[in-house]
Amino acid sequence: MFEQFASDNYAGICSEVMEYLARANAGYAKAYGEDDWTQRAADLFREIFETDCEVFFVFNGTAANSLALGTLCRSYHSIICHELAHVETDECGAPERFTHGAKMLVGQGPQAKLSPASIESLVTKRCDLHYPKPKAVSLTQATELGTLYSIEELQAIREVCDRYQLRLHMDGARFANAVAAMKVCPAEITWRSGVDVLCFGGTKNGTAIGEAILFFDRALAEDFEYHCKQAGQLASKMRYVSAQMLGLLETGAWLNNAAHANRCAAYLETQLADFPELRFIAPRQANGVFIDMPPLLIEALREKGWHFYTFIGEGGARLMCAWNSTFERIDEFVQDVKTEMARLQVS
Ligand SMILES: *Cc1c(COP(=O)(O)O)cnc(C)c1O
Repeated sequence: MFEQFASDNYAGICSEVMEYLARANAGYAKAYGEDDWTQRAADLFREIFETDCEVFFVFNGTAANSLALGTLCRSYHSIICHELAHVETDECGAPERFTHGAKMLVGQGPQAKLSPASIESLVTKRCDLHYPKPKAVSLTQATELGTLYSIEELQAIREVCDRYQLRLHMDGARFANAVAAMKVCPAEITWRSGVDVLCFGGTKNGTAIGEAILFFDRALAEDFEYHCKQAGQLASKMRYVSAQMLGLLETGAWLNNAAHANRCAAYLETQLADFPELRFIAPRQANGVFIDMPPLLIEALREKGWHFYTFIGEGGARLMCAWNSTFERIDEFVQDVKTEMARLQVS
């Protein structure tokens, strides 16, 4: 049986989104985002975020991040992000391409969270014209290690940004998981904390495709539709992207799905905490559990058909839960961990 904790994008389309897709499929609609589904989804984003932001829809997260960063930077600028940031490690240089050459400057901080001190040291390192001029900071919420920036942490970063006139971008591929875990209004951890532009993920939350880009500073959105079009990110049948997003938002599925995934990860964490040989890499705060496992255990679990990534350093396993994860399968996974640990200790 194929079973996985590899990624939340292995999961399919949730039923609410399927239903909206079916409804959007009835009859004709105007193309290129001129349709009602797109209008309604954008309006609902404005309502949920309690502000009159500009909203755009693209196919995937790499495009959302890269196009958004492209509006913040010119080719001679630099973007500060954590060394584990998706924009740095998993987008094949797309942010550099879409900014026409802006350089990523990688910073540090515990648990995949960029520290204000790290941002400051990258900015103040040089101030001559031979250094790519720092222009933006990119944060991921929830982070690549499944942790969360608190409101206080976001505000501390915003202060550094204000001091050095830096724009703030948020990669929210798992933004729903952050909101569900923190139990905050979306506005609190975005524009009220100084975020200028948010990439809001749909794919890992229950859509087939689609991410939204929200510009809280509307001036930044000037001509953005042209950038999307030129990048091949303007869907002609936009309703199939925006109706999915509307399905998540209007039914509340975005938060229910995220809360379920978070609960499953919390349960998995509790079960794995019973094994003193296993060490957590980061505290579980959203829908992922990051844990150090002996290589032989990883091998044995994979032989039993479990799929998960181990790209987090030596032996670190990433176990992601999704909207459709089940407690039963988590129990079976933990049972396999138990059996294999016992077997490995004997041999
Ligand atoms: C999944 C993910 C994305 C989006 O990736 P695409 O494959 O381009 O859709 C962006 N940022 C983070 C942190 C992610 O985990």
